[in-house]
Amino acid sequence: HKDIKLAVLGSGNVGKSAMIVRFLTKRFIGDYEPNTGKLYSRTVHIEGDQLSLQIQDTPGCIQVQDDFVQVLDSLSRCVQWAEGFLLVYSITDYSSYQSIKPLYQHIRRLHPNSKTPIIIVGNKGDLLHARQVQTNDGIQLANELGSVFLEISTSENYEDVCDVFQHLCKEVSKL
Ligand code: GDP
Ligand code: MG
Repeated sequence: HKDIKLAVLGSGNVGKSAMIVRFLTKRFIGDYEPNTGKLYSRTVHIEGDQLSLQIQDTPGCIQVQDDFVQVLDSLSRCVQWAEGFLLVYSITDYSSYQSIKPLYQHIRRLHPNSKTPIIIVGNKGDLLHARQVQTNDGIQLANELGSVFLEISTSENYEDVCDVFQHLCKEVSKL
């Protein structure tokens, strides 16, 4: 069966770890270590295909100033390793939205001639009272970059989290 290697990238505190754990266990767990670079491995079935899925969680990269070179270095290794990407920001944190484009460009630089699938995710869609990023901002960015965009709530909507991962798995397995 097919191997699928995914990486989840974005600033700190946007819900990357929560999303991965939600997808794999259905459970929403409030708090995680902020700096895990944990690799999750799981066999999943998507539309009759059995897939050996590996998902690389990452610490928030772009905002880290200390040891920037080392962080960039491990980010690059992760980007080279993966075949599909979720770029996550939080709708409650405008700076996390601003970090998406540089991450996107970094991926495209390291995957120059490929159709590597990248999905942009606006997370924490339940926190409407704290919204700093409009849905339209997400749509516009995705249009500009030629990428798929989804706004979701990891805490409130398990189905949406599944859709994101399943969509990405399908795109990668088509490559
Ligand atoms: P990471 O640093 O990007 O891995 O972010 P975490 O997964 O550690 O999540 C950061 C914080 O945001 C945690 O307190 C989570 O419980 C919370 N969180 C994650 N997703 C959501 C969401 O969809 N809605 C709300 N309200 N909180 C969320
Ligand atoms: Mg995390």
